[in-house]
Amino acid sequence: MSAAKSTRSVSSAAKSTSSRSRSATGQQEQIPLARPVLGQAEERAAIAVLRSGRLSLGPRTEQFEQAFAARVGAGFASAVSSGTAGLHLAVRAAGVSEGDEVLTSPFSFVASANAVLYAGARPVFADIDPVTLNLDPAAAAAAVGERTAALLPVHIFGYPADMPAFEDLAQRHRLAIVEDACEALGGVHADGPPIGGRGQPAVFGFYANKQLTTGEGGMVVHSDAALKQRVDSERNQGRAADMGSLEHDRLGFNYRLSEIAAAIGIVQLERLDEMLAARSWVARCYREALSGIEGVELPCPDTDGNTRGWFVFVVQLPRDADREQTVRALAEAGIQSKPYMPAIHLLSYYRERFGHRSGEFPVCEDVAARSLALPFFPGMEEGRVARVAEALAAALGR
Ligand SMILES: *Cc1c(COP(=O)(O)O)cnc(C)c1O
Repeated sequence: MSAAKSTRSVSSAAKSTSSRSRSATGQQEQIPLARPVLGQAEERAAIAVLRSGRLSLGPRTEQFEQAFAARVGAGFASAVSSGTAGLHLAVRAAGVSEGDEVLTSPFSFVASANAVLYAGARPVFADIDPVTLNLDPAAAAAAVGERTAALLPVHIFGYPADMPAFEDLAQRHRLAIVEDACEALGGVHADGPPIGGRGQPAVFGFYANKQLTTGEGGMVVHSDAALKQRVDSERNQGRAADMGSLEHDRLGFNYRLSEIAAAIGIVQLERLDEMLAARSWVARCYREALSGIEGVELPCPDTDGNTRGWFVFVVQLPRDADREQTVRALAEAGIQSKPYMPAIHLLSYYRERFGHRSGEFPVCEDVAARSLALPFFPGMEEGRVARVAEALAAALGR
């Protein structure tokens, strides 16, 4: 597909939705937080599966896995029903069990810590780097204890975590690593490999707001055939790879991805470069449009050879700004925004279960209190970015 043609397909998808929302409300056009790019190719792929009669555990799942593994430079991939399900199986495959501790970031979507709980282990948090917002390797090193079994860094907002530092730490203490790459498809590490291609298990998610979507879905990638076999079995009730047998030789789950989802994933993967390029173009527009608003901090630029896989555009509001009031003012201007994300250790479930309190991870808490996600999706036009920037500046009285 030519570049000109592909750009047109992304932006025409955006246009048809925007005119629909305008006529539906009859007033100012709403700008949503996120929007998937889905077209006729996805429709055709889904219909072909329906007509084939083979709706699960079929050829599309395998094809999607192989194409995805090749894309991120991993040896193997296992498609699963969600990123969360993938994290659960990856944590199990890493050997984490009852009573273990897993070191992870408190500034993440709750799924990364929940996956540790599913395995009967305890998530232990350490503070984040104030620039990249990823788990700080020095803070993580200081938090390693006798029961630490694994590290679970998260590539937050698509920015590569400092994996060489975590790999070094893991080697020194003989720890396993599982990467939460659910926000980071398309990111590239400074030392070469794409996110997901470093050899250790990494997990991607395909919820509707992610860089690639299958509605719900996820992928575990690994470099080890035995790990693939284990994850493939555990996603399918612990069944042996040979489906002729009705033997279940281990505890399993139903974390399968449907063939319909896999077929959509194959098409999405074919247009991934186009969608990623469209996202980074919108990010560049935002950077320019917001640079004049005093006190608003923008996502860190790519440094030292790391490349972000653009997922969301999250700014930090000035410390004296009222975030709730800002969200309301933007909503009145027809613009969706969202505090993103809350610190995991301060969620009530985590507070009550583990006795966490504010003040434990000051960098994370400061960032979590000021973060605001702005509308961000492929095909978002420069004019809309300008509208968001103007509304934000007005809301902040700048
Ligand atoms: C999206 C996401 C997940 C997985 O979410 P699912 O909805 O289960 O696919 C996990 N971790 C992070 C950081 C995420 O953003």
